[in-house]
Amino acid sequence: MQKKGVLFVLSGPSGVGKGTLKNRLLAEFEGQVVDSISATTRGPREGEVHGREYFFISRQDFLERIANNDFLEHAEFSGNMYGTPKSYVLSVLEKGVNVITEIEVQGALQVFERMPDCVSVFILPPSYEELESRLRGRATESEEKILARLETAKRELPIAEKYQHRIVNNDLDAAYEELRTIYLHATKSQQM
Ligand code: ADP
Ligand code: 5GP
Repeated sequence: MQKKGVLFVLSGPSGVGKGTLKNRLLAEFEGQVVDSISATTRGPREGEVHGREYFFISRQDFLERIANNDFLEHAEFSGNMYGTPKSYVLSVLEKGVNVITEIEVQGALQVFERMPDCVSVFILPPSYEELESRLRGRATESEEKILARLETAKRELPIAEKYQHRIVNNDLDAAYEELRTIYLHATKSQQM
């Protein structure tokens, strides 16, 4: 019988480095693990492509998909809706391929209930000041949105306790090494 893939849930405050760490893992283990591409009502940032970073859809379309039970989880974050497409994730896992889904905390709590075998990792910033500086350095949001995301981060940080693993992303290479170790441990039986 084909062994099922492992679902990895990656969360952490906006700007902490989740996307950077996730992309490294996807590049190193290409073919073994795939990204779950979420749907969102947020508009694309410069350089973002429909179907690559996200499926950019209207609020009406999003609400219809909720009604159709198309999402494994969904949540509102900073004024926009985000959701993980259920059938894609389940069919990939069924084929024995691992999936990584980078989602905020309310959605992650839904996944913990529905998919208790998932492996959860919360990425923490070395400090609140450093988080602010990375978010500003990325320069993808307006000042108002940056401040809103920092406020959300204060509420999200205590929820880190509910995750199986916590990684402080201070030095990127060291943080990646920790994520890689978690990945290799959780997929040990596939590596043989
Ligand atoms: P997230 O996906 O969590 O919102 P990103 O991966 O987009 O965050 O990272 C936010 C910014 O911080 C990016 O400009 C990224 O290059 C930078 N960054 C990520 N990790 C580190 C690190 N360990 N040290 C310094 N800067 C980092
Ligand atoms: P961003 O707008 O910066 O791309 O994402 C904002 C937040 O939404 C991030 O914390 C990101 O992890 C989260 N997010 C992205 N996709 C999903 C999703 O499908 N579901 C949930 N619950 N959160 C998501």
